[in-house]
Amino acid sequence: EKISDHYFDICIVGGGIAGNYLAHLLTQISSDKASRKNYKLKICVIEEHKEIGLPFQCAGIVSQKILKLTKIPPHLILNRVKEAHLFAPNGEKIQVIAQEQPVILDRIAFDKFFAQRAQNKGVLYYLSEKFLKFKRLDSEWVEVTTNKHVFHCHILVGADGPVSAVGRQLNRKNTLVPAAQVRARIQWPNYVTSMYFDQQWRELFGYVVPEGANGICRIGLACLRHTPKKLEIFCNKIGVKPHELLDRQGGILPINLPTRFVWNNVVLIGDAAGFVKATTGGGIIMILSAARILAPILLIALNKGDYSYHFLRWKYQIPVKLSIGIELKIHYLIRLFLLNLRTEDYRQLFHFYYLPKIRSMVYRDADMDFPAKVILKIVLTSEFWIWCVPIVLRKWRLLPYIIRALFT
Ligand SMILES: Cc1cc2nc3c(=O)[nH]c(=O)nc-3n(C[C@H](O)[C@H](O)[C@H](O)COP(=O)(O)OP(=O)(O)OC[C@H]3O[C@@H](n4cnc5c(N)ncnc54)[C@H](O)[C@@H]3O)c2cc1C
Repeated sequence: EKISDHYFDICIVGGGIAGNYLAHLLTQISSDKASRKNYKLKICVIEEHKEIGLPFQCAGIVSQKILKLTKIPPHLILNRVKEAHLFAPNGEKIQVIAQEQPVILDRIAFDKFFAQRAQNKGVLYYLSEKFLKFKRLDSEWVEVTTNKHVFHCHILVGADGPVSAVGRQLNRKNTLVPAAQVRARIQWPNYVTSMYFDQQWRELFGYVVPEGANGICRIGLACLRHTPKKLEIFCNKIGVKPHELLDRQGGILPINLPTRFVWNNVVLIGDAAGFVKATTGGGIIMILSAARILAPILLIALNKGDYSYHFLRWKYQIPVKLSIGIELKIHYLIRLFLLNLRTEDYRQLFHFYYLPKIRSMVYRDADMDFPAKVILKIVLTSEFWIWCVPIVLRKWRLLPYIIRALFT
């Protein structure tokens, strides 16, 4: 029988990194204010799996910005890579070296770390519990129904991943690209990550991410059709033998622009909101950045008793769109461009990278997550107009998509 005595300020659906980090930040920010007012924030996280961090569905590579955004213990960092090797469909390779040295995370431990910290500060976790639906009762309360309970809260946060059930109830759907990954013990330099561009998995690329001293690599790709089969082809291509395979993972990437992610009393964050880079499928840094905007705003909303669309839009949706939203648009435009490249175009692009001026710009300013700065610098060079504009002009069919992206 369902019981209805569970009242919360904030109810978070999804115990992935978005839900756990947001819960952790909320308790962290609120603890000072709450102690002054003698009021304890009531937060719960509803997670359908029985263990946080599982199933593991990530390559775990993030930019070094993570070290500025959060204080994480060293054991969560498995490796740092110093070089990225990019392969064109014809096998031509460029070796990208930048000041940026991405971090490889122990992704399961990373998720558990924030969940544990949130739990220590009093956040209630309901594991093995599936969110089913919500109903807005009035401007103050939302009723949240799971397969085990009925909860009431002021604000419902949908952090329930790319196929968000909260988002679906609001008629918001992501464009989904299936991903597949294996872990394998192969001969691979542990300071190199590689990306293989190929028409067969054109919606992303094939990647190899070394975990570090253990000699294990995360190898994967994302594409619309026959993803497991394509992964097999990719593994053959880079010489992975069947006996070297350790385990397999799957997953889904939401590859679109985040359009709307607030409603009265309800917000979305993370993959649920589409905060994923269309170039790489990476979402972690975007999620952490968005959570840092959202957490203080939720506390202000609770203080004022204002959970309206108007308030949440001005304080959360617009600031997110003006910060990570602009970067996500650039990633999306780059993806549109890459989707339409022929092998010959890749060759031209790779040669463009080897121009000394461009290489040094990339070395100095390349940022895996926030490419706006380096892109702007490159666009302002005469070399860009000579090398890249002819390719862009040949792709005039992209124009409507570009205009849509710019005005979304
Ligand atoms: C193969 C692969 C590789 C990736 N590699 C990288 C990478 O290298 N770097 C990077 O930055 N990003 C990477 N990503 C993306 C990154 O993993 C995601 O952006 C990130 O995990 C999203 O976190 P989230 O909390 O928003 O969603 P999720 O991690 O999907 O978490 C959502 C949670 O909600 C729960 N849930 C869903 N529905 C319900 C429900 N109805 N009731 C209760 N609970 C529910 C789920 O069980 C899940 O725990 C990768 C993704 C994939 C698939």
